[in-house]
Amino acid sequence: MPIGHLQKDFLLAVEGLTVSFDGFKAVNNLSFYVDENEIRVIIGPNGAGKTTVLDLICGKTKASSGSIQFRGKELTKLKENDIVQAGIGRKFQTPSIYDDLTVFENLEISYPRGRSVFGALTFNRDSAVRERVQEVAEMVFLKDRLGMTADLLSHGQKQWLEIGMLLIQDPDLLMLDEPVAGMSVSERVKTAELLNRIIKGRSVLVIEHDMKFVEDIAHKVTVLHQGQVLAEGSMESVKANPKVVEVYLGH
Ligand code: ADP
Ligand code: MG
Repeated sequence: MPIGHLQKDFLLAVEGLTVSFDGFKAVNNLSFYVDENEIRVIIGPNGAGKTTVLDLICGKTKASSGSIQFRGKELTKLKENDIVQAGIGRKFQTPSIYDDLTVFENLEISYPRGRSVFGALTFNRDSAVRERVQEVAEMVFLKDRLGMTADLLSHGQKQWLEIGMLLIQDPDLLMLDEPVAGMSVSERVKTAELLNRIIKGRSVLVIEHDMKFVEDIAHKVTVLHQGQVLAEGSMESVKANPKVVEVYLGH
């Protein structure tokens, strides 16, 4: 347990996290804490280190120093797969869906293996999978698109499908990198609604630039600048912060 910090029941505790690329500290002694059932948004100028923070949490990039605790479990020494197993799902900026498979098939292949309570009873597993696919498809507004190949979906629908592919694994922490980039206004509104609905029993960590969208979803905002926390708090407090206006919102 870190000295001087009273550990309450944070889902995620990032402390003193640093990564240096050839001497350049993209993330520099960063600390922040995410609660259970919280939607946290990370904002900040390009190059602030936002994507790198997600890369560090999901194990794609190894930290130079510092710690990332998820439910008290240290993640910095784990492999990417073990971090997924621990309950963290991460969506990248460009969707990684299978274009020539249907929506149903994309969701089905994302269903976690070896987690079935039905053991060897394949029939029961199949119906459990089908039921879960339907449930998730409905959540991500694709219930009437199940038989469609993914390449025929709109850009926004592809983003939703990928969120669905993560949701079907029932992660405790879902991380999304700029999920509404390129979406229409109505798709953005629906995505905000989606995120507000799925946080029961989980937390979401989102990177976003669209301030209207951020206002619609953020419980708390962390402003990142040069790999460090510049400000943190409610959207109102962050918006009113002169330092934040100077380095980010004023542009
Ligand atoms: P953001 O997502 O906030 O725009 P990034 O996290 O992508 O910023 O990048 C932060 C800084 O770290 C940038 O200057 C970027 O060029 C650098 N960077 C990110 N990943 C690497 C890497 N693998 N190797 C070297 N430099 C990197
Ligand atoms: Mg980025």
